[in-house]
Amino acid sequence: MNAVINKDRLWESLMQLAEIGATPKGGVCRISLSDEDRRARDLFCTWARDAGCDIRIDAIGNIFARRPGNDAAAAPVVTGSHIDSQPLGGKFDGAYGVMAGLEVVRALNDAGIETAAPLEIVDWTDEEGARFAAGCIGSGVFSGHRDLNDALSLSDAEGTTVADALREIGYAGDIAPGSIPFKAYFEAHIEQGPVLEAAGLPIGTVIGAQGQRCFMVTLTGVDGHAGTLPMAKRQDTFVGTAKITVALSELAATYDPPAVITVGHVRVSPNSRNTIPGRTVFTIDSRHPDTDVLQRMEADITRICTDIAKADGLELQMDAVTRAEPVAFDPGCVDAVRTACRERQIRFMDIHSGAGHDACKIAAVAPTGMIFVPCEDGISHNELESARAEDLATGAQVLLDAMVKVAG
Ligand SMILES: [Zn+2]
Repeated sequence: MNAVINKDRLWESLMQLAEIGATPKGGVCRISLSDEDRRARDLFCTWARDAGCDIRIDAIGNIFARRPGNDAAAAPVVTGSHIDSQPLGGKFDGAYGVMAGLEVVRALNDAGIETAAPLEIVDWTDEEGARFAAGCIGSGVFSGHRDLNDALSLSDAEGTTVADALREIGYAGDIAPGSIPFKAYFEAHIEQGPVLEAAGLPIGTVIGAQGQRCFMVTLTGVDGHAGTLPMAKRQDTFVGTAKITVALSELAATYDPPAVITVGHVRVSPNSRNTIPGRTVFTIDSRHPDTDVLQRMEADITRICTDIAKADGLELQMDAVTRAEPVAFDPGCVDAVRTACRERQIRFMDIHSGAGHDACKIAAVAPTGMIFVPCEDGISHNELESARAEDLATGAQVLLDAMVKVAG
């Protein structure tokens, strides 16, 4: 068998999809369950039906497009991603995974190839978390990480709930999420980082995703007059925050390269030009693919915060707000991706995902693998996000070969 991905058709589909919610600088704004999301969903459903797929929608709005197999009783081999975007997102994040799935089906149709197990393309609802302050809603409910009713009652800044928004755009389906068992799940995605481009390789076989520890830290000192209080008498919480931030940046550099620590959100109070900040709240986000290292990082982070707060006479409160364990993808799925690369003499490397993806949720309920392709300068969550048509086609080809291998 030799079903070949049509590079131009894949690119054209991505570009047509990107017209929905297009932004002036070449990106897309397709916020989850918005009218743009509805139009993109409609277009995907039309294309999938034209390619011979049956469409089903579940109660959290996930779309399943099935290409039947010879063995109707077999569980499907599934691929997909998300077509919602950040407010100023790119054309490829998520959209690539869904369009690559569509291209797999189209290429198999062209070649007249039937598989034993059915193939299925999914568009997961709200991966980005830009509207309802919770990412991976669709895949999270599907995989049992999140309760369906809790997810439906999440609301956006205007008070619109997920349930209302799904009804408004006509994607409140009736299948129970999670009721479709998967034989395997593969997700193709742009890397959203610079590793593959720097290595000059077209494919990353994703072996897992980093774990994450996030903390909310509050330093309390004393507000004071910026003109009258001598430096030696101050309990300045922003100075303490700055010292901690620098120390954590230096700490991260003492671990292996995948270790990252970020202070990304800082709220200084009273945030006045001439008052010494008596209270500062900030976040610490730390990530690494190895649980033991994450634990050691957490101990080091806690020690650094404690020591600096003490030395500066500040009260420290530190709460862990996220503890996500690293995800290891299924060895069989990872190997199917590697084999697909070898058989086409495509160069690849094993890689860890720095970002979270729908696949990280699905890994809990189905054998899962991911395929990364390079993105220009590692830029993502940005209107300028870009990828090469050749690399996108190579990724889709590997996806096709791996899915067919597993489906039989
Ligand atoms: Zn994504």
